Amino acid sequence: MNYIHHALFGVGTAALGVAVVEVLGVLQVAPAALGIGAVVAAAGSIATDLDHPKSFISHSIPSRVLRIALAILTIPILATVATLLTMPDVQGTWNLFSGLVLGMAILRWSLFALLASLGLMGLSWLLYRSLHHRGPLHSLIFTLAVTIAACATFAAFGQSWIWGLFFGWGWLWHILADGLTKEGVPFFWPFNDDRTHTLPDWACGIGRLLLSLAAFAGILVLIYLCLRPMFST
Ligand SMILES: [Zn+2]
Repeated sequence: MNYIHHALFGVGTAALGVAVVEVLGVLQVAPAALGIGAVVAAAGSIATDLDHPKSFISHSIPSRVLRIALAILTIPILATVATLLTMPDVQGTWNLFSGLVLGMAILRWSLFALLASLGLMGLSWLLYRSLHHRGPLHSLIFTLAVTIAACATFAAFGQSWIWGLFFGWGWLWHILADGLTKEGVPFFWPFNDDRTHTLPDWACGIGRLLLSLAAFAGILVLIYLCLRPMFST
């Protein structure tokens, strides 16, 4: 399963849940909130594979961001090297470089993106070496901890903590979907390190198919519910 499958399952099952809530008349969710919820659920769905250094979250995204950030930072870096070669004043050159980079928003953000990408790659490598792929990050207790941490992070940044539930939802469906593959996941780590399956072995194939259908159906039903007011005049 790749990141597209995981994002589809996370977003699709969340959409299905929201569609059920809307049909039952419990809650009406604004389209903008649906968009944010989809992005957050997709992020949770792909973040689970942070324990593999070649995954979408820990390689594809950061390496692209890194290339763009480096391209933007090339001019100040070259200017700094040129200054250092013509005027060997390390402190003065450093002041010039930091003043230039921190003084312009685009350069400041590029530096932040560069450091964040390197941090993500480093964290992934550490997780892979210490916990291994499909290890503790793919367990139920880690899902709970990540959900609580995500809720706290959103609240700390002045946003609704509910978004943290969407992130945790994406994470949960990632491990449930991985649990439908032959390898399985250690759902009950740290109490039991054995990799198990979401469904009995014979039902995993049909489970993957049903999950794909449910995810597609969830997205289509929710799109229909969003568009319906436009046609009901
Ligand atoms: Zn996984």
